[in-house]
Amino acid sequence: MEGSIIGEKYKLGKIIGRGAFGKVRIATDIQTTCEVAVKILVRETMVKKKMEEIVYREIEILRSLRHPHIIRLYEVIDTPKEIYFVMEYAKKGDLLEYILDMGKLQEEEARKIFQQIISGVEYCHENYVVHRDLKPDNLLLDSEQNVKITDFGLSNIMSDGQGFTTRCGSPDYVAPEVLSEGFYKGPHVDVWSCGIILYNLLCGKFPAFNKVNIPNLYKKINAGISTFPSHLSPTARDLISKMLTVNPVERIEIPMIRKHQWFQAHLP
Ligand code: ADP
Ligand code: MG
Repeated sequence: MEGSIIGEKYKLGKIIGRGAFGKVRIATDIQTTCEVAVKILVRETMVKKKMEEIVYREIEILRSLRHPHIIRLYEVIDTPKEIYFVMEYAKKGDLLEYILDMGKLQEEEARKIFQQIISGVEYCHENYVVHRDLKPDNLLLDSEQNVKITDFGLSNIMSDGQGFTTRCGSPDYVAPEVLSEGFYKGPHVDVWSCGIILYNLLCGKFPAFNKVNIPNLYKKINAGISTFPSHLSPTARDLISKMLTVNPVERIEIPMIRKHQWFQAHLP
């Protein structure tokens, strides 16, 4: 695949990521020499896994959103065998690799990243999109270390007053109300995931409900968070516990996250 030209416009380069649906490669726009990222979806596997609907939803959602902290979809190239998503290239890769490399971040750096995540997620919610799969591997960093939210495959468009009943997301980041299979209102679910992400950023690991096995993890998530590492500042602890509130009705919402003392420090 490397070296081949797609859409008579982009030359494919090395693999920069692998996901559930296919590979992501860096590519060069032949005319401008600009770098782009191309997510390659093989039609055959999509049909087999009944993923077509998810893929078309991702295209529709990405096309409708335009925000500095959401990855831009430049174009979709549809061929008989593959679908190519041509996207903005985030040079520094995903936040998971970054946390694995760096370990826990200083509060200043974590705050800047977190403020940008919240800004992108808030924009999605304002446009009736709930991401539902927020986790460090779906948060990219560009060359200037700015956050770009990606992978809207599991997201859904909210209709007024409607909640969701489908289970989705990754077990480590998923909100308790999703696990208990009840009816849940979308935006709270993203707030929970952002709470886990904030914990990841500040602690370099997962909250006390660590990956043991899935049933155990679910039990622990349902019981809520109880302990924090001692290096965390009191305001950071307060914000995390408000975001990881088990009852979605009592969970902090984005406008209050924005007003929170920890969030407010050094706001750009
Ligand atoms: P999946 O739906 O299969 O999880 P993603 O869209 O999350 O696919 O992409 C998989 C991985 O590829 C990401 O975790 C990231 O490491 C890398 N990646 C995806 N898009 C980009 C991009 N635009 N720039 C840089 N890396 C990317
Ligand atoms: Mg992903």
